[in-house]
Amino acid sequence: MTSITQMVENLVRPEIRALSAYPVGDASGMVKLDAMENPHQWSAELKQAWAEKLQHANINRYPHPQAPKVKEGLRKAMNVPEQFDCLLGNGSDEIIQLLAMLVAPLNPEKKATIMAPDPGFVMYKMIATFCGLDYIGVPLTSEFELDMPAMLKCITEQQPELIFLAQPNNPTANLYSESQLRELIQASEGLVIMDEAYLPFSSRNHLHFLEEFDNVLVMRTLSKVGLAGLRLGMIFGRSEWLNELDKIRMPYNINVLTQISAEFALEHYDILLGQCELIKQERTRMHNALTELGFKCYQSEANFILARADMDFEGQAKEIFEQLKQHNVLIKCLAGGHPLLENCLRFTIGTESENGLLLEALKDIL
Ligand SMILES: *Cc1c(COP(=O)(O)O)cnc(C)c1O
Repeated sequence: MTSITQMVENLVRPEIRALSAYPVGDASGMVKLDAMENPHQWSAELKQAWAEKLQHANINRYPHPQAPKVKEGLRKAMNVPEQFDCLLGNGSDEIIQLLAMLVAPLNPEKKATIMAPDPGFVMYKMIATFCGLDYIGVPLTSEFELDMPAMLKCITEQQPELIFLAQPNNPTANLYSESQLRELIQASEGLVIMDEAYLPFSSRNHLHFLEEFDNVLVMRTLSKVGLAGLRLGMIFGRSEWLNELDKIRMPYNINVLTQISAEFALEHYDILLGQCELIKQERTRMHNALTELGFKCYQSEANFILARADMDFEGQAKEIFEQLKQHNVLIKCLAGGHPLLENCLRFTIGTESENGLLLEALKDIL
């Protein structure tokens, strides 16, 4: 008899066995400043109105396969011109996976490539790996700008099928130069995905690239604006691309509860954007407070701050992270990951009182 370990080894691809599942720590009872969620609650009235909508959910029926009302709500809330098509995913993570599947060749001799600047969003590499694509991460400069010679060299030599440009980038929170983005898009024969997960906190969007370039798609999500629990991502662009993606999308990937909730939330999108304004105000306060405590804080266009523990507490990022946990505050420790993130911590912006608790804990620790 073959042991189960042996069977797993025989059947599961080695690159998948070598992966670790996306790490999500237990945060129960903690001040949760690790995952770029919107910390604000809905009012009792809003929750009540939402619950009434949910009562009419036909939970016994399959959801609408195209979720047209959700798409209409998104277009309106985000001012997306009619000429661009929209496709929905179970989070933008699912859309990244669909894109990878779209270009992955079945012939293992001829791999396809995903390229992104590094450090970047970890799912690009993870999805590339399990969908059988090569991943090339081109290091950013030490100030987290695009290394243009390296990016252009990689594009012209490899012509990656997919290039992901997160703007603002996670975990560095910055925007790259717009003219440099254009240069990369022009050099690319592959699809360039502008990942705008942090759009509500950013001073710039890239929807206009859709009018300028046929090889660009713009991907967004409701996760960071305040609906992480819904799992709804979206991608906008030319129907020539989205029609192909739609063929490999699971027909009912957006469930009934998500559709009703998203329709409702999009009717009240101004409330969510109002909450994002509060987060942006807190971002300024936290930037100053963390700098005062002795961190090197990078400019943020997102709902988190990347901070380096160099100067006063060189090499103590991991220790600060652990001690914060003891104080019931959960942030993200980036030290030990990408070399450019040496001594780095990532603080998601919480409510005023949560941020206050973080600062109190830091004062206690440092
Ligand atoms: C959080 C994040 C996403 C994933 O969003 P979901 O819609 O929740 O899957 C995509 N891209 C970047 C850069 C992110 O930080």
